Amino acid sequence: MASITSALKKHMRTSGELVMAFMKELMKTSDEFGPPPAAAVEAFREVLPDVVKNLSLWVVPPNGNKRQKMNPKMHHGMNYNRVPSESVGKLNKMSQNIADTLCQCVTLGLISEADQIISKMLSEIHKIPVEHIDEVVLVFLKRVHTQISKQEANLTNSRFQLLFQHSLAIYIDRFVKPEPAKPTNWTRSTRGCGCIHCKDLDAFLRSPNTQEFRCNSGVKPRAHLESMLIQDYGDFKFETDKRRSPHTLIITKTTLNGQYTREHQAWDQRVKMAVARMTELGVEPLKKLLGDQFDATFGLKWIRLGAHNSVTRPLNRRAQVPVDDIEVITID
Ligand SMILES: [Zn+2]
Repeated sequence: MASITSALKKHMRTSGELVMAFMKELMKTSDEFGPPPAAAVEAFREVLPDVVKNLSLWVVPPNGNKRQKMNPKMHHGMNYNRVPSESVGKLNKMSQNIADTLCQCVTLGLISEADQIISKMLSEIHKIPVEHIDEVVLVFLKRVHTQISKQEANLTNSRFQLLFQHSLAIYIDRFVKPEPAKPTNWTRSTRGCGCIHCKDLDAFLRSPNTQEFRCNSGVKPRAHLESMLIQDYGDFKFETDKRRSPHTLIITKTTLNGQYTREHQAWDQRVKMAVARMTELGVEPLKKLLGDQFDATFGLKWIRLGAHNSVTRPLNRRAQVPVDDIEVITID
């Protein structure tokens, strides 16, 4: 068994996914075969720290990639590298394997190992590319839920409660995002191209109390400014004062706000999707798993209240990782 353990450890870095699948099979408890032999449990336990260390929801493309330290800007922004869509299946498989390994740990009473997996998984959910978070998180939780729901007591196990509370909090935080605030003044998003005319236009768009803008110049600059606002044409009123040459273009902000409407509609869509996804997991079991966080989670409370900061978010330090410790894969 010792040689198997060292062989598994050796292969962990290059094919952690396979090792995890192998360990999963090895540890499979069934009525037919009875509980796994002690030696298998021991090997599982020995390999597990490496499994946890290498656990990642980043898919490594076959070539042309390298690992690099992630900078804080990338961590907070949307500057993620795209994961090819064919890798989504791989990601889902990976999250299922992690779910199975976690549940096995709990079944076998490997509690600190289970906690390590939960902790690592939460930090992965923090940094998985946002375009995949919806699918991967729900696939993972669904798998965990299917396995633990065989035993009613698991639904009130604080370990699983923590996992569900935090995973869904991070999911809502990153996927649904805070509700776009309705503008209360005349500030609008800047649209200029950076040219000298657009700089004035952008200053006008940014201004909270200026409703009217005048451009007294040739035909071309006037047409250029109008074209910059074409996306939300209804948000502005255009008039041309032709009494003097050159004519004066007068742009007036209206109370319509197309960009806000669009962003809010997109947000509504994400809210509906998130609620549908959570409903799929099952309302009754979630009531137990989420405990006193149920209403806040299902009602997307932190997001709706705009209470979007670390003080009010129900996350503890366990779900956070220092940015310096985060590795990200870049594709050349
Ligand atoms: Zn311009």
